[in-house]
Amino acid sequence: MKIIDIESKKGEKVFGYIDMFEYPHGTIEKLPICIVEGLEEGPVFLLTGNIHGDELHGLVALQEIIQEINPTKVKGTVIIIPSLNPAGLLVLKRSPFYTQSDPNRLWPNPKPKKEPKLKYDDVYDENLDSEKHPDIQEIFYTKFAQILPEVDYFIDLHCHAIRSLPFSYLDRVYYDEKKEGEKEQSEELYEKNKNLVEAYGLTLVLEGPPKHYFDDKLHRSTIGSFVNKFRKPGFTVELGASGYVDIDIVKIAKTGIWNVLKHTGMIEGELEKIESVAVLNDTLWREIIIRSSTSGFYIPLVKCGEIVEKGDPIFEIRDIFGNIKETIIAVERGTILGMWDDVCCYPNSELAVYLVENTIDVVLPWEYEKKDEEEKKE
Ligand SMILES: [Zn+2]
Repeated sequence: MKIIDIESKKGEKVFGYIDMFEYPHGTIEKLPICIVEGLEEGPVFLLTGNIHGDELHGLVALQEIIQEINPTKVKGTVIIIPSLNPAGLLVLKRSPFYTQSDPNRLWPNPKPKKEPKLKYDDVYDENLDSEKHPDIQEIFYTKFAQILPEVDYFIDLHCHAIRSLPFSYLDRVYYDEKKEGEKEQSEELYEKNKNLVEAYGLTLVLEGPPKHYFDDKLHRSTIGSFVNKFRKPGFTVELGASGYVDIDIVKIAKTGIWNVLKHTGMIEGELEKIESVAVLNDTLWREIIIRSSTSGFYIPLVKCGEIVEKGDPIFEIRDIFGNIKETIIAVERGTILGMWDDVCCYPNSELAVYLVENTIDVVLPWEYEKKDEEEKKE
């Protein structure tokens, strides 16, 4: 297959670089890519990492997969991009140094557009609209996304937070209520996605409910776009902390990748259970945020991944002498997913992400908002 201008060869690993854009001093930024085409026909699996330049576990896991994968034993094609953000990697920052945009919010927008009808004429309306003038990162990702219709499965590897439990994010699937059969297709896609996440082998966590998902532009993340625009199975893996490399986490990431390649029939072998970290899939989880109500120093009382019951103390906020100012308790049964890398807090500081049981639909119409009575009458 051909990815932009890099052509794969049957039974070989092909290495190349795709031109991204020109720097002011005239050199070209390039995206590294490895295409592993098997001898037999089969699905196309895209594996990417490091779109947030400081998140390194995916990058290292993918380097090792590239070294270990044997193209003659692959059915189909595996496309591996160790870093979707080479400039962010060099400065170990979430965004590349040439733009402030979050690179994981710049992928093709799957949400049907509602153009507002202006009651006035403005010749500069387009001039003022930043969406009509995307930055170079978005222009490149839009060009790169042209390969996504050829891709059958997509996993994007990230890192979450210090001390966080490694887990996978699963996107809700959205459908157009006016399109016949799209709800049923969305339900099927959700199930395929869920099976793929389970095959990977880490704890499954749903992405945020629609309001917060769209507010945070997660529908324009690599996987949000792939699942909801290209309507194919894919998910995001979150592998512990950023900014360093832990070889045990790299091992977990690789076990998961081999597992999904086996699950899709692209390589032979039995799935391997991940046992070095807690995998909590007896409940379908979603996240909420734990905040402090006072200034002080926050100290966790439990570990990430440790199940606690409603009312159990999970954080203590102390003053400078160690006196307890506030005890934060679990609002319901769940676990701390990840804590932020700090010890100081103020009123409303976010301390951690906590998992609770999901009660919100996993397949939803794009127009998820409840219409109030006033609107209905119009
Ligand atoms: Zn990330």
